[in-house]
Amino acid sequence: MEFKRHRRLRTSSSMRALVRENHLRVEDFIYPMFVIEGEHTKNEVPSMPGVYQVSMDLLLDEVREVYNLGIKSIMFFGVISAKDEIGTGAFVDDGIVQTAIRLVKNEFPDLLIIADTCLCEYTDHGHCGVIHDHDVDNDESLKLLAKTAVSQAKAGADIIAPSNMMDGFVAVIRQALDEEGFKNIPIMSYAVKYASSFYGPFRDAADSTPQFGDRKTYQMDPANRIEALREAESDIQEGADFIMVKPALSFLDIVRDVRNRFDVPVVAYNVSGEYAMIKAAAQNGWINEKELVLEMLTSMKRAGADIILTYFAKDVANWLNENK
Ligand SMILES: [Zn+2]
Repeated sequence: MEFKRHRRLRTSSSMRALVRENHLRVEDFIYPMFVIEGEHTKNEVPSMPGVYQVSMDLLLDEVREVYNLGIKSIMFFGVISAKDEIGTGAFVDDGIVQTAIRLVKNEFPDLLIIADTCLCEYTDHGHCGVIHDHDVDNDESLKLLAKTAVSQAKAGADIIAPSNMMDGFVAVIRQALDEEGFKNIPIMSYAVKYASSFYGPFRDAADSTPQFGDRKTYQMDPANRIEALREAESDIQEGADFIMVKPALSFLDIVRDVRNRFDVPVVAYNVSGEYAMIKAAAQNGWINEKELVLEMLTSMKRAGADIILTYFAKDVANWLNENK
């Protein structure tokens, strides 16, 4: 009887390594970090064991650890107490993220710093833009988002990553960056960002829970697939250099769709809820954390992601370095 012997290529660890199709590299990762006001402060986020809010005086030590592991890119989020209606803290030149960027860039010039460009960590209502009639006003919010991007670029950010899902946000930011002399600063657009329940732990970490309503008028319905392609297409037309899909785990089909359709680098954001679920199961002894994390992140590469934003970046870097 004729049949195929697929198992021939699985006979040993070396054989499996020879035919392995997808690989994780430390260079694939962006590590998200939370900077908080105050001094001598390093707060572990309760729902995200191993992730900390760190004050400015301790930040360089934290970044040095990341840098020494070989991670080449980090992203900053700011946590502040003095919030207002329009999120002024997001775009002032001495804002918490701008200050962090300047400090870290000075010490680690070759580390890529990606600035998340949004207002929700800085508005007293927790929404990602200016509120009119109980909803985020698109065009008003765009102006502030452009200001935020320019202030981050001035501070030394290497990549601007707008995340508030306003229509036209890439166009407006591109124009503002160009006008201010930042033609070579790329935009990593959160082009396909779903209104997901996987963000819960992040909102604890960044203190950005909306005080009323939800984000469903700007973030996408998790039931939709074709809409993701429309969003990505607009952002690429407007000048996005990278396209992000967020969250990752429940949206790997979307990562694949975006990969197949467009020819820019695709970023998957392995979000806080995905991290928290694995940490909780590992703490209970229900899963093998290392194997599961490597499998999950490799599946994002297999789905077509070139780059992965993940809170597991340090762990994975350690594991990959062990194998060298
Ligand atoms: Zn936001």
